Amino acid sequence: MNLLEISNLDVYYGQVSALRGLSMSIAAGEMVALLGANGAGKTTTLRAISQVVEARSGSILFEGTEVNGKAPYDVVRFGITHLSEGRDLFPSLTVADNLRMGYWVRRKDKKGMKQRADHVMDLFPRLRERSEQAAGTLSGGEQQMLGVARALMPEPKLLIIDELSLGLAPMIVAQLFETLVEVNKTGTTILLVEQFVHMALKHTNRAYVLAKGEVVADGASSDLLKDPSLVQSYLGGAAEAGAAH
Ligand code: ATP
Repeated sequence: MNLLEISNLDVYYGQVSALRGLSMSIAAGEMVALLGANGAGKTTTLRAISQVVEARSGSILFEGTEVNGKAPYDVVRFGITHLSEGRDLFPSLTVADNLRMGYWVRRKDKKGMKQRADHVMDLFPRLRERSEQAAGTLSGGEQQMLGVARALMPEPKLLIIDELSLGLAPMIVAQLFETLVEVNKTGTTILLVEQFVHMALKHTNRAYVLAKGEVVADGASSDLLKDPSLVQSYLGGAAEAGAAH
């Protein structure tokens, strides 16, 4: 059984169709990239998984359980966390308090919370140094580290990430990718949307390419890397932007 199995998903914003019969599956332990030009439906796919948007039809099974129709906090309880494009940090709260917020669904387990905070601060030592600093005063890269760390707090089985690289220098993005690969090796399955196409393909096992709300290509990331024309034809400028990194 796959960890995540999406079948024939249709999502609309009013009359606008954003996803049309989208199907994809992710096995436990994989690290998968979701690629596509602007407006292809990548963010919508992640939002549908975490139930921030409602699907009109189709199914999203997580460990065999239907996710569609559940509340977003139930999705977190099932073991899926979502780092959105805007990161959604609490800027006036400290780094440590932002991490505690990430543990909300398991907040009664104080010992577990402390252990997880230690674990994520081992992954990002910079956050330990700055644990009493307000999140809003961190650099962009540090804020993204905090976003990833907070999403890891409840020990998700599946971590979904929208635009890890947004607004960050390529070197910082490369470091974040290295950390995600480490996180993935310790058993967390990862699905990520990324504009830096080459960076994403280099660090993932598999990729799906979306266009106009549909899957138009999928395969091993190493194969897609060898076939730039395929990716280029669907990603255009996005693929070129990624090629530099
Ligand atoms: P980008 O890379 O530009 O973020 P994307 O692949 O993530 O694009 P989505 O944000 O999922 O694409 O958008 C898919 C389609 O749905 C687009 O046509 C977009 O205009 C539309 N859409 C997204 N959000 C809304 C909304 N809140 N209201 C109306 N239409 C929306």
